[in-house]
Amino acid sequence: MPAAERTNNPFSGALLDRRGADRAVAGWPEQVRADPSARFVLSRGTRHLVRREPQPSIAFLEGSDPLVRGASPGDFVLLGQHLGAPCVLLDMPTEPTELPPETALEELRPLLGLLSAVEAVILTCARALVIWRARHLHCGVCGSPTEPRQAGHVVRCTSSACGADFFPRIDPAVIVIVHDGRQALLGRQASWPKGRYSALAGFVEPGESLEDAVMREVAEETGIRVTEAHYFASQPWPFPASMMVGFHAEAEHSTIRLDDELEDARWFSAEEIAASREALLPAPYTIARQLIDAWYLKVTGRALTVTA
Ligand SMILES: [Zn+2]
Repeated sequence: MPAAERTNNPFSGALLDRRGADRAVAGWPEQVRADPSARFVLSRGTRHLVRREPQPSIAFLEGSDPLVRGASPGDFVLLGQHLGAPCVLLDMPTEPTELPPETALEELRPLLGLLSAVEAVILTCARALVIWRARHLHCGVCGSPTEPRQAGHVVRCTSSACGADFFPRIDPAVIVIVHDGRQALLGRQASWPKGRYSALAGFVEPGESLEDAVMREVAEETGIRVTEAHYFASQPWPFPASMMVGFHAEAEHSTIRLDDELEDARWFSAEEIAASREALLPAPYTIARQLIDAWYLKVTGRALTVTA
């Protein structure tokens, strides 16, 4: 795959140095709290502490902040290193009574596309972990309480008879732009904004390869048979736990037969897409848009989305 196809894909690139080996260090919460360079990302449920001015950004806290000092070791998750310093999630178990000046707790989705690339990666990681932690307070085998291990990246059952380990859950989904050379197949769900179309997508089923999922989902949703599914790029999508795996695929024929899942699906020419792109297409930070942009570039030789 040409490297240029991937350069604009948000949430890609090793922007956060995850440093997995650091997770086994005993007493790490106390160490990072005493480290004046450490930066703490506060989350309360799925809301994160941010500043809106001068532009949306994470409101990092220092170890000396009362919110950080008052937290329990089990409330911290070591995300890695950012700007050469430890970057730590503080997963608040209760609503903070007071926030630092000019900060607010906000959901991630409206901030995507506004945050810097590295801060979007940090909050994508934080959101995935807080959701997983909240859903694994008890062992799925025996029902006993769990406790965090590996700096918050594993939870372990506290029953000595069980001791099962649980790892962050990631649900793979395929997302695909189907084309016939000159046209692209896009679909829409009834709940989407009026006029919005996007690439087809669906979850991978147990025992199924990604390529087989592409063929099944496209056939189920539109009746189109595809060949030549080619991997494009991937995007973590923690709403709540997806990993979107993007493909381009070629259609064997053009006759659409809709199922109940989509309100509509139709073929679009490059000219139609260019003429109504803002109303028609998903936001530039989505892998769906990246797939469509890459297809448009290949067909026309021109960029559909001009990025700053
Ligand atoms: Zn157990």
